[in-house]
Amino acid sequence: IVILGIETSCDDTAAAVVRSDGKILSQVVSSQADLLEQFGGVSPKDAKEQHSKVIDQVVQRALDEANLTEVDLSAVAVTIGPGLSLCLRVGVQKARRIAGKFNLPIVGVHHMEAHALVARVAEKELQFPFLTLLISGGHNLLVLARNLGHYVQLGTTIDDAIGEAYDKTARLLGLDMRRGGPALEELAREGNAKSVKLKVPMKHHKDCNFSYAGLKTQVRLAIESSNIDKDTPISSTSCEDRSIRADIAASFQRVAVLHLEERCERAIAWAAEIEPSIKFLVVSGGVASNQYVRTRLDHVVKRNGLQLVCPPPSLCTDNGVMIAWTGIEHFRQGRYDPPPPADEPEDAVV
Ligand code: ATP
Ligand code: FE
Repeated sequence: IVILGIETSCDDTAAAVVRSDGKILSQVVSSQADLLEQFGGVSPKDAKEQHSKVIDQVVQRALDEANLTEVDLSAVAVTIGPGLSLCLRVGVQKARRIAGKFNLPIVGVHHMEAHALVARVAEKELQFPFLTLLISGGHNLLVLARNLGHYVQLGTTIDDAIGEAYDKTARLLGLDMRRGGPALEELAREGNAKSVKLKVPMKHHKDCNFSYAGLKTQVRLAIESSNIDKDTPISSTSCEDRSIRADIAASFQRVAVLHLEERCERAIAWAAEIEPSIKFLVVSGGVASNQYVRTRLDHVVKRNGLQLVCPPPSLCTDNGVMIAWTGIEHFRQGRYDPPPPADEPEDAVV
């Protein structure tokens, strides 16, 4: 089986071709990070226009780099949600156009399921059931994956996701917003993580849910009461100013990740009640590319006799491989839609 995967749920346009033995034949991502920096955010309408502009060439490059044409494909997989509907539609229309023209089945893919299942490309030993922590810009989920399509949610965020907290903190610290999360991670390495007192969220809630809105506010207050020069980007600030920012970054990161550690510890216990045989914790989504997050969670997992599986960073942030791979998993089990009519009008997709 060879599947083309298309992803347009947020601000990256991505496509990839993957084979059922897990071999990645190609992987292409076109990022809107520059727009984000320029305008301080991307509206769904701008993001949609950007997707429309590049989708044809992104898909073509994915096919070219895989050395294939459409007729070699078994099916087309595409993200159908969750995400910005205007943006999702660009990917879905493209997928249906190809599928209609070349008479290929379509697999509709859930973006978060794809973040989790891509771990099976990286780690061939990874069998169901497994526990998964998904940490990204919009989600913070603890899910027990019992089997393909059979997921039990153990916890979610009651407000913001951790990636959102990283991005907001990075902005307040004057970091390069094209890469807010990674920039904050780098800065934190220079700082003292115990210098700014911040409270770990939801200490008294003995469950697996998350909350990052309060931490975001705590950090904002800490920044406002510090004497850093808020109007200066970090690249042109003094040594002393930089070290204060580094202390705040390190303190934020420590507490943000402590919250993950506590919740994972509990989720492992909960999961073992339902599935005593679980051996793996999968950590995926953009924030899982953070090395500090990986190291800290590795300790938690080892302490509990499990194994950590973290896809390589390029498969943690949004990508086409995860969509193609999830497509393969579903296709193998006969879960797909028949080819759309070749002459389907563009606006047929609702
Ligand atoms: P979702 O998957 O919830 O729909 P998304 O698709 O926008 O959200 P991803 O691409 O999966 O999100 O992840 C992006 C998030 O990951 C951003 O918030 C980004 O700051 C964060 N991120 C990426 N790399 C790192 C890092 N090294 N450290 C911390 N955060 C990071
Ligand atoms: Fe994502």
